[in-house]
Amino acid sequence: MIRKILAKILYLFYYNEIKKCSKRQDAILSIYGHDQQKEPFEKLMAWLVDQGYTFITPEKVYSIVTGAEPLDKKYVWVSFDDGWKSGYDNVLPVLKKFQIPATFFIATKGIEDGYYWYSRAFQNRESNLYSKVDELWQMPNAERAKIIDQLPAYQGPRITMNESELQTMKESGFANFGNHTHDHVMSDKCAKDELSGEIDKCSQIMKGINGEDCSFIYSYPNGNLDETSVELIKEKGFKLAATVKIGWIKPGENPYDLHRNEFNNGCLEENILQSYGLWTPFFDKIKKLFGIKNHK
Ligand SMILES: [Zn+2]
Repeated sequence: MIRKILAKILYLFYYNEIKKCSKRQDAILSIYGHDQQKEPFEKLMAWLVDQGYTFITPEKVYSIVTGAEPLDKKYVWVSFDDGWKSGYDNVLPVLKKFQIPATFFIATKGIEDGYYWYSRAFQNRESNLYSKVDELWQMPNAERAKIIDQLPAYQGPRITMNESELQTMKESGFANFGNHTHDHVMSDKCAKDELSGEIDKCSQIMKGINGEDCSFIYSYPNGNLDETSVELIKEKGFKLAATVKIGWIKPGENPYDLHRNEFNNGCLEENILQSYGLWTPFFDKIKKLFGIKNHK
């Protein structure tokens, strides 16, 4: 409730800025989500359609970034990270309703297991193997994987899409897919060979599931990247890579450093502010004051 009120106040505060953003044609609006509820997503998509946006795929993003095609309209690129079950349950019906595409970056171990390692870690947050779940995101990958293996099993229903849902997504014609590594590893916390294996495994498994080899676009899990991982992504032939840095995508910019603004399950005013990258910078300052961290 407080968040909703805040969103409405901030919306008024940024009203002119929002108007300006909604007219921008010098860059691609780039937005992404995670575990999405239907209603907030439907409202945001309806609003974007109403504003006259054309929804595009990574191939079109690439053409615009490299200058092969002009930025002649208001374009938006929508993506989702991880492969949450809500992608099938809540996102796909909205994509079908508005006949719009979205990109899904899949961490394939999650599809196999039905959960993500960080969900298992969070369930076992009282474990004495680490003092805070946050620590697991910072340590060398092999060390993290070893700790996760020692934890009690994940409890509860599946939180990720299954193979048949991923097949239906692909058959719909509205979902396209990208690589998010097999075990949602931090690109900068892996040795080069280790990361290479993780990326290949994701591609292989996805190809086996719905025929998408996920070799065109990569999304850095949690937005973590370093020089070595960027080099590896290029060597592997990926054309684009997406970060979690706030901002729009401009022609001529680095295709391995695509910016994206995160939307969520808040009210429409909040999601408009989030999509235009106006919300997070404001609240990051507040979170920083309280030492709260976010993971993607
Ligand atoms: Zn992720």
